[in-house]
This record gives sequence, structure tokens and C-alpha cells, in this order.
Amino acid sequence: MPATIGVLALQGAVARHVHAIERLGLVAVEVRTADQLDRVDALVLPGGESTTMSKLLDANQLFEPVSARLADGMPALGTCAGMILLAGEVLDGRPDQRCFGAIDIAVRRNAFGRQVDSFEADISLSGLDEAPVHAVFIRAPAVERVGEGVHVLAEVGGRPVACRQGDVIVTSFHPELSDDLRVHELFVRQVGAAS
Ligand code: GLN
Repeated sequence: MPATIGVLALQGAVARHVHAIERLGLVAVEVRTADQLDRVDALVLPGGESTTMSKLLDANQLFEPVSARLADGMPALGTCAGMILLAGEVLDGRPDQRCFGAIDIAVRRNAFGRQVDSFEADISLSGLDEAPVHAVFIRAPAVERVGEGVHVLAEVGGRPVACRQGDVIVTSFHPELSDDLRVHELFVRQVGAAS
């Protein structure tokens, strides 16, 4: 049976992730409840607004279940706001904003400056073949501290923008906005290894 990949669907850029997962021949499930979470082998946390997602995770009684699955080793891919949610520490967050601490990094929200809220860059990402990834950054977070067990997969201007610790992969950018499936593929390979 193909792996079932959940996409946290409380807010944000859900549909493009669902599409990318389906293009890879896997089953995508939008996750809004703990029951739906129970059915997935791995979870994508999309871009959007991390403060809003944090609130909705609490309101939908989903924060603790997701946290428990992550502690139990569920593979996770967090893009942009999803990266913020998976981080161990959030800088420039709202005081009531929560994060899962699934990867030992500190991230600063909206770190690339107000004037350049959004930009695109061709970056090389370790673990993929040589062709660069066209990365779209939208009010993106930057990684300001990387813990010992964390591998930096890509950098922009000397700042990490993609990291991995075990089965958790995070990107500051939005891989789902391009037609390039390689970041999702890299993640899905983890799931294969885990199941
Ligand atoms: N700035 C947003 C936040 O703090 C993230 C932006 C995005 O996901 N594109 O959640």
C-alpha cells in the first residue's frame, strides 16, 4: 500500500502540497482532526501564518496529538510557516505562539527584511542531484541557530534555509510552488525508510 501523507489543513498553502504528494503516487489526506492524523504515516506542515496555525492547532485540539506523533518519530516536512511550527525556538514570534520542537533550530520570523518580503533564488540542496532548486521565499523565516544533530541542506547568503534532523525536513521556502518535486521526493523517501 502506498504511504499516506497528511497535510495539516487548518490554514495556508495546502492544495499545492496535496497535488505534489499525489503526483508522486502517494495518498494525500488533509488533516484537521486527531482522527485524520491517526490515519497518516507522515505530515506536511505548509506555509501560511504560523501564529494563526498555532492558535488553530489549540482550538482544534490538535497540538498535543501532533506533538505526540512527532515525539514518536513521525516524519515531517515543514515549509515556511511549517518550519516555524516544527522549530525548537521562535524569534520574533507572538508571545502565545507555540512550536513543536521537532528539530533543534531557532528560527526568526520574517527574517529577510520588510523591503524584500518575497524573493526567488536558485539554490543547491544537498541530497538532491546537481540541478538547483528554484526556491520561492515569501515573508520567509531564517534559521539563526542550528543544533548539533541538524544538517544544513541549503543556504542563501550564508543563512541556512533548509535543514534536516532525522526524519524531519524544514525549508524557509515553498517547494510546493514550483513544479519541481524533488524536495517532496526527498521527504517521501524518509517515509519509505520509516515504514
Ligand atoms: N511569516 C509567516 C509566519 O510567520 C510565514 C510566511 C509563509 O509561510 N509564507 O508564519
